[in-house]
Amino acid sequence: MKCLYFDDALTFIEDYPQPRRGKGEALIKVHYGAICNTDKEIIKGYKGFQGILGHEFVGIVEDAENSAYINKRVVGKINLGCGECERCSQGHSNHCENRRVLGITNKEGVFAQYITLPLANLHLVPDTVEDLEAVFAEPLAAALEITEQCHIKPTHKVAIVGNGKLGQLIGQVLSLTGCDLTILGRSEKTLFLLKNRARAQLISQVDYESYFDVVVDATGNQAGLSYAQKIVKPMGKVVLKSTYNDQALLDPTLWVVKEITLVGSRCGPIGAALRLMEKKLVSVKELIGGVYTLEEYQAAFAEQHALKSVFKMIGNKD
Ligand SMILES: [Zn+2]
Ligand SMILES: [Zn+2]
Repeated sequence: MKCLYFDDALTFIEDYPQPRRGKGEALIKVHYGAICNTDKEIIKGYKGFQGILGHEFVGIVEDAENSAYINKRVVGKINLGCGECERCSQGHSNHCENRRVLGITNKEGVFAQYITLPLANLHLVPDTVEDLEAVFAEPLAAALEITEQCHIKPTHKVAIVGNGKLGQLIGQVLSLTGCDLTILGRSEKTLFLLKNRARAQLISQVDYESYFDVVVDATGNQAGLSYAQKIVKPMGKVVLKSTYNDQALLDPTLWVVKEITLVGSRCGPIGAALRLMEKKLVSVKELIGGVYTLEEYQAAFAEQHALKSVFKMIGNKD
């Protein structure tokens, strides 16, 4: 099968062996896979991953022990717990110490024509949700994780720092809470995609200090946290969504003096993400920057930060 393999450098491979499903797993034909900032960080060295890259996908089940899944469109949770440790038995397989993570840790990813995943990881895609929407289920779930962890009140002033792909999805989700929402970014071109849902401002043109109740860092770089801790109110919350290869330069004194709560936030509820798309409460397709074949991976990875590059693995390119 065709795939994108990472081993110090990213390469397109034409004839990689197709995976075989293990016990309890489904064999999935991938329809679309999308590039996430995490993939770009892996290419810089994050997690020291080797193998097929990619974790955001939608596909169709070709083979599984449970025939109810066959020919069904699916998206999937990316964490594969061991199923035996204390955290797995308490239902926290996202935090299993021995977990494998699709396209990130010890599990071949989705920039390929076929993948395998445990049935327990799969969610069926509702008929009214198109493939090019469903491919956003995983990052949209990551945005929803913020509301799983923090009570965002409709009276709160909330800022999202970073208007990349994830920042845009977070903006769509948090606007549904009714909070007073501001998105702060550096790139004018895509900042205003959220204009009907949030106040969009360029960081260079505003000067906030201790102003917001909740600040979400979705910059994907180390500067985001320092800026977030400056603009959050005393006793406010900073939610961290960025994972990156660099080390952050921090001033923890400010956390103490302002009594800031830091909340780390990663993967979220995929079923809820599919519901938001089914009910048309979010509009994700406007975030697609381009649809590419795997062979066109260099152009796909060069797409600007705020828009999503999507690989099409089936049929002809639109
Ligand atoms: Zn991702
Ligand atoms: Zn475990």
